[in-house]
Amino acid sequence: MFKALLLTQTEGGAPHAAVTGLEDGQLPAGDVLVQVACSTLNYKDALAITGRAPVVRHYPMVPGIDFAGMVVESSDRRYRPGDPVLINGWGVGESHWGGLAQKARVKAGWLLPLPGGMTPSHAMAIGTAGYTAMLCVMALQQNGVAIDHGPVLVTGANGGVGSIAIALLSRLGFTVHAATGRPHEAEHLKALGASEVIDRSTLNAPGKPLQKERWAAAIDSVGSHTLVNVCASLRYGGVVAACGLAQGMDFPGTVAPFILRGVTLAGIDSVMAPYARRAKAWDRLAREMPPDLLARNTLTVGLADAPAVAARLLDGQVRGRVVVDVNA
Ligand code: NAP
Repeated sequence: MFKALLLTQTEGGAPHAAVTGLEDGQLPAGDVLVQVACSTLNYKDALAITGRAPVVRHYPMVPGIDFAGMVVESSDRRYRPGDPVLINGWGVGESHWGGLAQKARVKAGWLLPLPGGMTPSHAMAIGTAGYTAMLCVMALQQNGVAIDHGPVLVTGANGGVGSIAIALLSRLGFTVHAATGRPHEAEHLKALGASEVIDRSTLNAPGKPLQKERWAAAIDSVGSHTLVNVCASLRYGGVVAACGLAQGMDFPGTVAPFILRGVTLAGIDSVMAPYARRAKAWDRLAREMPPDLLARNTLTVGLADAPAVAARLLDGQVRGRVVVDVNA
């Protein structure tokens, strides 16, 4: 028997989360059985656990869109017992039982070998949010953004994606501006590498279609008016990597920045990203994300704490990343 956070549906439709004992035989089909060491709480996990958005496709569900651990059994020749692995995306924790459990069974093609030098807790301090931040950095670089072009804005700065994006961009030599609703966390954002902290209220209401040119590029995990204002404030030829909807899923803007300033809007999806891109992102994260910054940006909790912390995360009360030690 192993422990899992199991979501069941109540009569009213809302999910009920409880730490539950399960047998291996109850796990879904897959080629590889993994002993999970840790998982995390991302924005999507918090939505799934609280039921604030319809993330879970069917019940009962074990949430957890990412995890790291060790292979116990494998019928696929790519993995053998004892191999350290990680996973994120592919519908894990949404349509396939995920990582908030001591064991998980998944398809071999969804797994990645844990990059050399990374521990499971190190990998999950990065997690889906940090991996998405790296996909955003890669998109900016692929679109030609260079450090001498000017400052790069990161929105949702105290969140998982935002905080890791700041650290990665700063390490690469970019001047980073951080937009946050929590200016009292400015010291933390500066320790991660931001040189300037701006109040998100200057970005999250309707603005002019074209505004003062401020940033060469941006990483946005907020969407809605914030993303529209960011596009309107990019310098000529600027690039924004858009990955999130913390403010909203809408995009209430005009095409002016695209057709008058040559701005590029690069969309980022982490869930179905092809193997080669995710392997490259994780390899870069292993080399480029400073472990000391990860440690100061991470809160570690136990499986039973996950529901309460998920609610706090959606209320904007969690700073940085949350690792869930499923054996605590
Ligand atoms: P998170 O840790 O909760 O961070 C979100 C941050 O956004 C918050 O910490 C807050 O930062 C800011 N925020 C929250 N509500 C806001 C509002 N109403 N207006 C403006 N800013 C607001 O979440 P995360 O895990 O980093 O994920 C961030 C977003 O990216 C989510 O929408 C998530 O679904 C998305 N995402 C997408 C992908 C993908 O594949 N495309 C992958 C990962 C995440 P401050 O307190 O600093 O203002």
